[in-house]
Parts: sequence; structure tokens; C-alpha cells
Amino acid sequence: MEITIEKTTSPKTKPDQNALGFGKYFTDHMFIMDYEKNIGWHNAKIIPYQPIPLDPATAVFHYGQAIFEGLKAYRTDDNRILLFRPSKNMERINITNQRMCMPDVDVDFCVNAIKEIVRIDQDWIPSAPGTALYIRPFIIATDPYLGVRASQTYKFMIILSPVGAYYPQGMNPVNIYVEPDYVRAVRGGTGDAKTCGNYAASLKAQERAAEKGYVQVLWLDGVEKKYIEEVGSMNVFFKINGEIITPALGGSILPGITRASVIHLLKAWGLTVTERKISMDELYQAYQSGILEEAFGTGTAAVISPIGELSWNGENIELGKEVGELAKKVYDTITGIQTGKVEDAFGWIVEVE
Ligand SMILES: *Cc1c(COP(=O)(O)O)cnc(C)c1O
Repeated sequence: MEITIEKTTSPKTKPDQNALGFGKYFTDHMFIMDYEKNIGWHNAKIIPYQPIPLDPATAVFHYGQAIFEGLKAYRTDDNRILLFRPSKNMERINITNQRMCMPDVDVDFCVNAIKEIVRIDQDWIPSAPGTALYIRPFIIATDPYLGVRASQTYKFMIILSPVGAYYPQGMNPVNIYVEPDYVRAVRGGTGDAKTCGNYAASLKAQERAAEKGYVQVLWLDGVEKKYIEEVGSMNVFFKINGEIITPALGGSILPGITRASVIHLLKAWGLTVTERKISMDELYQAYQSGILEEAFGTGTAAVISPIGELSWNGENIELGKEVGELAKKVYDTITGIQTGKVEDAFGWIVEVE
């Protein structure tokens, strides 16, 4: 399939690189393609960034058949453009597609579409340390029909947003509220799919944690509210007595690409990484016995987010204001690989030429 390209005749003014924030500005172009049941994906094009007219009856507005991905393009010091494991995102979009009864996309075609649009809008990739071009591929159900069923038509789009450094003042540990009531996902639900409804369902707990002065929520399992699942929209790792533990993917946890990369890296360094169930009780006991050494979240946005404090049922787990040695080393290595400063020993980098 060819991608038709229509370039904008009125490029926008680019935002101040030092005040980008996250997801506020969008580039000059967007990728869009359509799906129809008997045709498959077709009509792939890159066009000027613009609103899309949709019938009020469009399925996505009513029953939430919508999914997304998130990755970044990084500019190196010598002005090359790098993507980090983009085919992993497109493989995951298909896992999500399957769960949501949505049509598969072609992984290689989509990685090429990402490269193509990033190339066209490459002047939008910021160069200040820590900044990047955030890439948001997403798919929505577009049948104008109110019956509850899987849509027969879809739109796949890719939009791009220059984003600021996650840690403009340097990496600092955040305080987390262990959510006692609300759950993010249940066994058999959609927790391991990157589907929009998971986020809608998480807002209430996030707001409540924010009111109490916490930056993120730690989610417990939806059945016993005992086992640790994720932190906000990040996977989570603990270092206990030299061993690194992360909750095993059991269907309700999102299989993060940063998570997989961190596990790979730690094992390559000869460290012991265990994917298993870990309860808050166990974590608290480890803390009390003085063997809980570090805790950090992992995800595309922050890469590594060290945890400074966990508030759980009125108890506090204090990990301190210093960034842990391991969190720092993993962060420096992955961001180094992403920006071309550290050798890509695992073949994770795809260059946009
Ligand atoms: C996207 C996401 C993550 C992190 O995944 P990455 O591929 O590492 O960015 C973790 N948890 C949830 C719920 C997510 O949606």
C-alpha cells in the first residue's frame, strides 16, 4: 500500500522548546488510513493536521472501541533521528486490537508510516536535553450505528507532539498512594490491552490521590486487593535484598515495552530479576526488615520514575529523596541508548533516515 502525501501550505509556528510540557502541541501533519470489512486497511495518507468530521452516532463515542500506542522519536547530538523498538508498539497494538475485536494492522507497514511522518515533521523534534517527539498511533471505531457490536469500519491515525523533559530539574522520587478501593483492571478484563476505557476508569483514583498530595496511584489486583499491579500508567519494580522483583503479567497488567527492556538490561548485567506476584504485605515487611532497597516505575513517558514514598492503609513506606543507584543506572543506560549516547547492544534502535 502506498502512502499519499499532501503537505501543508501553512506550517504552524513552533512552540518554545523550553515550555513544551506534554501533549499540548501538535505538528503540521497527521497520518490517517481507513478500514472497511471487505476492503481491509486502505486510503493511507499523510495530510495537514486537521479535525476529523464524525457522525454523532459514531461507535467510538458510545461504546468506547478505541485503542492507542505511545512511543518517541529522539534527536541525537549529531542530528540523527532515532526510534526505540517501534515494532514492539505495533505488535502490541495488534494484541490490543484482538482483545477489542478490532482489525490487525501490518506491523512493518505501520513502522514505515511512523518513519514517514516523523521524517516529514522532523523539524518539530526538539533537541534540548530530555525532550522528544511523542508519537501517538491510535484506532477508533467509526460505524455510525448504535447497536452494540464490533464496528465494521475504523480509522487509524498517527499524530505527533513535541514534548518537554520529564525531569527538567533532574530526576526526583515521587510519592505514591496505594489505592484501597478503586481498581484499574480485573482478571479477564482489558488491563493488558492499551484501550482508552482503562484510562477513563482510572481518573477517579488519580484525582483522589492528587487531592491527598500524591503524584500517582499504586494499583492493587482487582480480586483480593492484595497484590501489586502497576503504578499509574507505569509498570513497577522493587529491589529487595539484591533481587529485583516486578509483578508477573497475569492478564490485568499492561505489558510495557520499557518493562521488557529493563528486565532484559538487568539480566544482561547479571542481576537476578524475578517476575512474580508480590503483595503489599510482603513489600511492607521487606521495608520493616530494612531490605527494601529501591522502587521505581517504568514507562515511555518518564522511562524510570523512582518512588520516594508509598502510603498504604495509613502506613508509610519511606524510600527517601535520593534516586536509587539502580534506578539511575537503568535510566542513564536506556535514555543513553535512545539518544545515541550509549551503544545499542541489543538492536533496539531504528533510525529514521
Ligand atoms: C502504556 C502503559 C505502560 C507502559 O508501557 P510502555 O510500553 O513501557 O510505555 C504501563 N502501564 C499502562 C497501564 C500503560 O498504558
